[in-house]
Amino acid sequence: MTATRVLVLNSGSSSVKYQLLDMRDSSRLAVGLVERIGEETSRLKHTPLTGGGEPREREEPMADHEQALRAVADELAADGLGLDSPELAAIGHRVVHGGLKFTEPTVIDDAVMKEIERLVPVAPLHNPANITGIRTAQALRPDLPQVAVFDTAFHTTMPESAARYALDVKTADEHRVRRYGFHGTSHAYVSRKTAQLLGRAPEDVNVIVLHLGNGASASAVRGGRCVDTSMGLTPLEGLVMGTRTGDMDPAVIFHLARVGGMSIDEIDILVNKKSGLIGLCGDNDMREIRRRIDAGDEEAALAFEIYIHRLKKYIGAYYAVLGRVDAIAFTAGVGENAAPVREAAVAGLEELGLAVDGALNSVRSDEARLISPEYARVAVAVVPTDEELEIADQTYALVSDRNA
Ligand code: ADP
Repeated sequence: MTATRVLVLNSGSSSVKYQLLDMRDSSRLAVGLVERIGEETSRLKHTPLTGGGEPREREEPMADHEQALRAVADELAADGLGLDSPELAAIGHRVVHGGLKFTEPTVIDDAVMKEIERLVPVAPLHNPANITGIRTAQALRPDLPQVAVFDTAFHTTMPESAARYALDVKTADEHRVRRYGFHGTSHAYVSRKTAQLLGRAPEDVNVIVLHLGNGASASAVRGGRCVDTSMGLTPLEGLVMGTRTGDMDPAVIFHLARVGGMSIDEIDILVNKKSGLIGLCGDNDMREIRRRIDAGDEEAALAFEIYIHRLKKYIGAYYAVLGRVDAIAFTAGVGENAAPVREAAVAGLEELGLAVDGALNSVRSDEARLISPEYARVAVAVVPTDEELEIADQTYALVSDRNA
């Protein structure tokens, strides 16, 4: 029997998201999520997508990722999709930080694990959880190929002019300070899909991708290769996000420390968790913000304006970086669903060949689609992202190649 299934694992500090896919037709066999790992109230939500099974929930304390993954394995086994199945070809792991070394998905061995560990100082919140997820999966199926798919990989093609900060070179190099970029799996997938939507080869198309979820980033993609992206050493840089400031004069941090008496850790939490939309108006869900604006709430309206102003600046900047733009693609929770954000982001940019058709923009759909009017020089697209499918595809391509 040929093994055609791939399990995709996205391990966060206290959560694990997973999907089991059959790569013959890219169909999902099961999806799920474990939350609050390490707490008394851990919860596993499992949805089988074959055989008409109903979603199931388990609430029980799960002390660590190993317990959580064992519980996931039990749920999959109950649907006849156990991890011991010979049909499982590989496990694909989302790994947030791959530094400069990992430019491609990589089969994990001891040397690869060491390198992911070496990157913990530049990704202290993310890589440790990813490492735990990998170790646990290895313990469950030591014989199975485990593949790391890095969030940073797509951005490793950025030229030095975009990747380097204008920081003293010696200090920057000593501490590996440079712009790495994140959400790379999504930017890669969406830029490719956008070219497909235009009926053109990715090599011939220049795209600005706007990944607007709770975390948000923009990228400039020339002929299928990333040439600039808005997140930097960490995901803090760039656009206004759900809870992050995005771009801000770094001296604000010195000011808050020296004059405001705040500690570095307090400022870290402030700028990453308590700022952005939530810091500006108390809400980070775009649906709620739009509801408040419709009800006349000025605080929410200003937060929205600040969000859009930053987005516009990046569209303009990446237009200039690319020189010629064929398409702008909106993706992720806000980009896929919030028509007012898309409309406001390109409003007034007709001189750049950009416009949105009101009727097309208000259509709700899960499909990739164009929302620009026929006459517009630049296509504006909504392209639902699918990071899990991209991870599964890359994982399967790698292990199939090895076995070929
Ligand atoms: P992440 O993966 O970064 O957590 P998502 O890409 O799932 O985020 O995006 C989540 C965000 O998408 C929510 O915080 C909300 O602001 C926005 N969102 C989701 N659905 C809608 C909708 N129907 N209309 C407007 N915004 C939405």
